[in-house]
Amino acid sequence: MSAELICVGSELLLGDILNTNAQYIAQELAKLGIPHYYQTVVGDNPERLQAAIESAIHRAEILIFTGGLGPTPDDLTVETLADFFQTPLQERPDVLRDIEAKYARRGRTMSPSNRKQALLPEGADVLPNPVGSAPGIIWRVGGVMIFTFPGVPSEMRAMWQETAVPTLKALGWGQQVFHSRTLKFWGIPESELAEKVSGFLNSVNPTVAPYANYGHVKLRVSARAESTEAAEALIHPIAQQIQEIAGSDYYGSDEETLATVVGQLLQQRGETLAVAESCTGGYLGKRLTEVPGSSAYFSGGVIAYENRIKEHLLGVDGQVLERLGAVSGPVAEQMAAGVRDCCGTDWGIGITGIAGPSGGTPEKPVGLVYIGLAGPESVSHVGYRLGDTRGRDWIREISVSHALNQL
Ligand code: ATP
Ligand code: MG
Repeated sequence: MSAELICVGSELLLGDILNTNAQYIAQELAKLGIPHYYQTVVGDNPERLQAAIESAIHRAEILIFTGGLGPTPDDLTVETLADFFQTPLQERPDVLRDIEAKYARRGRTMSPSNRKQALLPEGADVLPNPVGSAPGIIWRVGGVMIFTFPGVPSEMRAMWQETAVPTLKALGWGQQVFHSRTLKFWGIPESELAEKVSGFLNSVNPTVAPYANYGHVKLRVSARAESTEAAEALIHPIAQQIQEIAGSDYYGSDEETLATVVGQLLQQRGETLAVAESCTGGYLGKRLTEVPGSSAYFSGGVIAYENRIKEHLLGVDGQVLERLGAVSGPVAEQMAAGVRDCCGTDWGIGITGIAGPSGGTPEKPVGLVYIGLAGPESVSHVGYRLGDTRGRDWIREISVSHALNQL
């Protein structure tokens, strides 16, 4: 038994809107434990929609449609389904009354075109819409069970929760929970981590799946069980072993970010932090202050873009700036120590680099970034060559993550 999703709308194919309905339904199906192998996006075109239905009915037993329930001529989902299953449409007086009442409540009269929304295939049940006018249908026909939803996400979600979920649960789905924990790593390539934990990647319950974005590597450990606690009990020992294998490359799980983990550590130790940023222009400060309560450990910082600011506000040695250039290890260290001293914190971070796209030289290419760390006892720096192929935003984002990780 599996479910298949068909999202109808030419605006989806044109890329005008993002198919967030697909993401929502996919997550919901996973929660209910309903297998889901295919999704289709099809324009407002009856022939192509018929072809999509034809493929889907051979692969799945539950077909879910979103979009095309509106009153306009390009809203064709229900008509096309009725055609496909050679079933006449019937005007449902109860549905019509409900649509009229909804309009009346808003002080408007229903336009004649809305009558179309009360036309449902014979034998189909109404899937009520508590938010908008167009109802959906729940229809058992031709060996499949069909659900239709409007395209508007708020309507679709309300209908899904209020009617579709209870209906699917009554059929025996969702008895088991599907629960995951995401383990997060920084500083190790995805392939390397996958090799280290390869013994777990074929595990069945829980499953372990790697993915990566913006330099963060993640392992999603997911289990199916009778309750969240039971799933956690399956996940925990595997997560524990993976964390041990990964050592310091592991930094947190689920909602934890590098910034929240840094915050926790500083708070535990009762220490404070200030930042001096050149190429990241305040982005490190933004990431740190995104965490509620960050004022407990984050004092502030200086955006020291121009050399003059590095020198006068942070006390970076003018001769060092001249001799080595702003993008150098010693300057990153002096920025870090300077901001630590001027803000009176325990820790200071200094970031200086070439975010590009222009401005690189053979000795100092775009993507060269130095991060200085000044602590209560010592000052150090690390240099990174992040490359020039992924663009300015990427370099800035990765630099900030490296900086947080250094703490
Ligand atoms: P309406 O009564 O508003 O016409 P409908 O069921 O006909 O409802 P559509 O016309 O297909 O729905 O879509 C209405 C709007 O809903 C779209 O303009 C779009 O903003 C949003 N929408 C449609 N499909 C999706 C989708 N798959 N993901 C996210 N948003 C969507
Ligand atoms: Mg529409």
